[in-house]
Amino acid sequence: MPFFDSHCHFDFTEFDADRMQLWQHAMTLGVQGLLIPGVGPVQWPAAQALSRQLSGCYFALGIHPWWIDKTATDPLALQFYAYQMSLLLDEDKANEQPRCIAIGEAGLDKNIDVPISRQLDLLDWHIDLANQFHLPLIVHSVKTHNELIAHCKKNPPLYGGVVHAFSGSYETAMQLINLGFYLGAGGTISYGRAQKTRSTFARVPLESVLLETDAPDMPLSGEQGQRNSPENLPRIAQLFAELRNESPETITAVVWENNRRLFGIF
Ligand code: ZN
Repeated sequence: MPFFDSHCHFDFTEFDADRMQLWQHAMTLGVQGLLIPGVGPVQWPAAQALSRQLSGCYFALGIHPWWIDKTATDPLALQFYAYQMSLLLDEDKANEQPRCIAIGEAGLDKNIDVPISRQLDLLDWHIDLANQFHLPLIVHSVKTHNELIAHCKKNPPLYGGVVHAFSGSYETAMQLINLGFYLGAGGTISYGRAQKTRSTFARVPLESVLLETDAPDMPLSGEQGQRNSPENLPRIAQLFAELRNESPETITAVVWENNRRLFGIF
């Protein structure tokens, strides 16, 4: 059964020492692909290069909320990044197998010291680019689901998207799904204390779920402080199947199809 890690920062330095061996091992476990989210313009070329080196590896272009302060976001800079994006996308499309399959990760985060108005402006910038390039949007949302929902009603991402590492109530989940978002489930579901999120993922339609590791972050319960890796995706699928009382084969097959539908790959 094939797995796709829909959110994995595999370009981060944490993997520099053993990236290739680790990927080969992940593939023996059935992990046949992964998606590297964009975090900022300085990282985009490296993510693109890595996605060409590893089979099954894709990338996205965006500015992560945690990188906003490290990135100039004045209108002129944003215009320049949008141009840089269009060049990278043109270059990518010229390849037999294009690798850029999403815009993001964009988002909102109440835990960071960046005014929410500035975060919302940048979210709009991403939504407009996703719509312009006909790509889905990867969203990071921490304690900001209400703002995200209200904002996407005004400026909807037209090609869908995923709220990665979703944590929240069933009602919030269904509002996001109704806006065209998939929900990313990862290591959080392995924590007994994440009751609300666990019961949400037990109930939402399986057709709206993606699985992810968010490696090197979001370790599974019992492995706090250790580096997370795409090798853990089959364990997340297993935990997810137990949570829903469904067979791992069903989960894996439906989630694979979800990735195919959202990202247009495979
Ligand atoms: Zn991420």
